[in-house]
Amino acid sequence: MRPVNKREFHACQAEYHPYGTAKNDLISALGGYCSYCERQSYSCGIDVEHIKHKRRYANRATLWSNFLLACKNCNSVKGTQPVKGMFFPTISDTFRIFAYHRDGRVDVNQAFLTQPADRQKAQALIRLVGLDRRPGHPDYSAKDKRWSDRKQTWALAQRYLAHYQTGNIDTQVIIDLAKLSGGWSIWMTVFKYLPPVLTRLINEFPATRASYFIHYLRPKPRPAR
Ligand SMILES: [Zn+2]
Repeated sequence: MRPVNKREFHACQAEYHPYGTAKNDLISALGGYCSYCERQSYSCGIDVEHIKHKRRYANRATLWSNFLLACKNCNSVKGTQPVKGMFFPTISDTFRIFAYHRDGRVDVNQAFLTQPADRQKAQALIRLVGLDRRPGHPDYSAKDKRWSDRKQTWALAQRYLAHYQTGNIDTQVIIDLAKLSGGWSIWMTVFKYLPPVLTRLINEFPATRASYFIHYLRPKPRPAR
């Protein structure tokens, strides 16, 4: 889940009446992606999302500081649930707390989060929007394409990793594809040994909080095969 800094976008208003009028500014600020599942807006439809629910916290219903973007799946699973006591993309490094897998799963990155309390906070965010819903999960619905979309995005990224490594395509093609497909964290994971690609993914997806990635971008030794 891409960590973001909305303060980089200076053209916003403090309040929007009605709140739906904030959508264009949010897309300019964050890119047209669901803030939770990272899918592209044209594939899933996104709308203004209230971090703190608009009815439970009516005084925050129109505040820019309370907005993100969310698809219908993430929004409806989140519902009116409170967000207190969990990691969140506006305040935490929500990329490295999760591990993305080729079979479409998202789970807690146990290697990065060594403390049980931190793992619980990460798991709470997965449950908040239902990123763990896939076949076999009691609340999984076939209409929820987030899991299968992640699998497809992984396969796409893997295919173009091979083209990139053989020199058939350059970094620009990878960035263009990532922007078109969405799934920023999947592209970051599949290209994790290629700092030139990671740097551009971080810099070219709007409002990505780059300060979290200074150490991450150092070249890493590849695991022995
Ligand atoms: Zn979503």
